[in-house]
Amino acid sequence: MIDRLQAIGAQAVEEIRAAGDTAALEALRVRYLGRKGELTACLKGMGRLDPAERPRVGKVANEVKAAIEAALAERREALRAAELERRLAGEAVDVTLPGRRGHGGGLHPLTLVVRELLDIFGQMGFSVAEGPEVELEYYNFEALNIPQDHPARDMQDTFFVAPGVVLRTHTSPVQIRTMEAQKPPVKIVAPGKVYRCDSDVTHSPMFHQIEGLLVDRDVTFADLKGVLTEFVHRYYGPDTGVRFRPSFFPFTEPSAEVDIQCVLCRGSGCRVCSGTGWLEILGSGMVDPAVYGFVDYDPEEVQGFAFGMGVERIAMLKYGIDDIRLFFENDLRFLRHFG
Ligand SMILES: [Zn+2]
Repeated sequence: MIDRLQAIGAQAVEEIRAAGDTAALEALRVRYLGRKGELTACLKGMGRLDPAERPRVGKVANEVKAAIEAALAERREALRAAELERRLAGEAVDVTLPGRRGHGGGLHPLTLVVRELLDIFGQMGFSVAEGPEVELEYYNFEALNIPQDHPARDMQDTFFVAPGVVLRTHTSPVQIRTMEAQKPPVKIVAPGKVYRCDSDVTHSPMFHQIEGLLVDRDVTFADLKGVLTEFVHRYYGPDTGVRFRPSFFPFTEPSAEVDIQCVLCRGSGCRVCSGTGWLEILGSGMVDPAVYGFVDYDPEEVQGFAFGMGVERIAMLKYGIDDIRLFFENDLRFLRHFG
């Protein structure tokens, strides 16, 4: 019986040392030490032994059991160490790999254009003024010399919020609010959102304008031409041709639209400029004396000029964009061009 116990012990220890993983090890533990295991089965035969023999056999049985348990513990530890080693090797970080760049945010192309325009006018001494987007009809129309029956008040163009209250259709009300609040001289540019009931590839129901106003003593049309020509040369380049074309706006007299030489064909004529070689970029004019009556300025004392431009149009011409909706769809593939 002692030989049998020792043989079981020797075989168990040998198999345990060869176990390849923790599952195999557990199977061996059950096979030798479990309730139906080989060692247990062998010990059940002890009852048949001579009582004098039992202590000696019992001692050997305990030794064999202890040896098997020690072998199991040792192998378990070895397997765990190996598994840890494998996992660490798999998760190793190669610190020499180049880093992955995060996606940095960027400014919207319209914000970039507005900042650039304000910067140019800022260098010429204009400060920034702002006004409300929900505006009284009075500031949006009446005080700008746009009478009740003017086509610009047509329901098709203007969003009405309430009787007498509109979403401003242009940034020009800021002129009136500024002149109401301060005495001349006034030298401001007013950027902001404006709203018109209009939508296609070149019109958006919400778009951006920049308005300019200069009022002082002895201001003439030559000053208007000088400031706007300087602006065009700074923004589009010093060789860009500029022309002033007579036009009409209710709040300026005389009025002029400003064209620049086509930025694409440089004046030879193309699809963008409809073959004319010129692109209209802004409206301007001398402030109509009637407007001064609304803000208590004396037209005998002061003169001034105003101008306004659509930021989207300026940006479309600058970057060769042919659909205004791209600015508002927030497609990252488009926006990343300007980051
Ligand atoms: Zn052209």
